[in-house]
Amino acid sequence: MQEQAVFTQKTEPVPPTGRFAPSPSGRLHLGNLACSLLAWLSAKSRGGRIVLRIEDLDAERCPRKYADQLEEDLGWLGLFWDEGGSKGGPHEPYYQSECSGIYTESYKKLEAMGFVYPCFCSRSQLHAASAPHTSDGNVIYPGTCRGLTAEEIAEKRKKKAPEPLRSQGFRGLARKEGFEPSRVV
Ligand SMILES: [Zn+2]
Repeated sequence: MQEQAVFTQKTEPVPPTGRFAPSPSGRLHLGNLACSLLAWLSAKSRGGRIVLRIEDLDAERCPRKYADQLEEDLGWLGLFWDEGGSKGGPHEPYYQSECSGIYTESYKKLEAMGFVYPCFCSRSQLHAASAPHTSDGNVIYPGTCRGLTAEEIAEKRKKKAPEPLRSQGFRGLARKEGFEPSRVV
């Protein structure tokens, strides 16, 4: 009897939370609109919620005025969100540009755990190494610098500064620190 009660509880559908995460570097375009509409329909058709996360890590390309304009446009279209953007909510910050403290903290944890190392590959080397896997537009890091010894790292540092990380969340931090996280498999 008790088992049946647990089973019923586990299979009860939970309303989904969808998210729309644009990089507002200009006015709302059709791609933004399609993504936001699909996310909104997907969540709302099942009684769910929508979170608006602003991907404005590149402060030059994504000034706040474009994020504000995007909110205005979404509102005009009736695609209202439940939390995020200037509306705020219980899981702030929703602007990626305000997350650098979180990224720094996470980076330090990863570093303490030995999950980061400097990478000296150039962008073209990474693209060449990843060529068979670039059909989806993503570059897969081949782990070229993963096994460097402390001596090799010191030697390479004399010749060339480490390349910045190209992964979304750590870009700014890696640029500052000159490190990139390894791929944890
Ligand atoms: Zn490398």
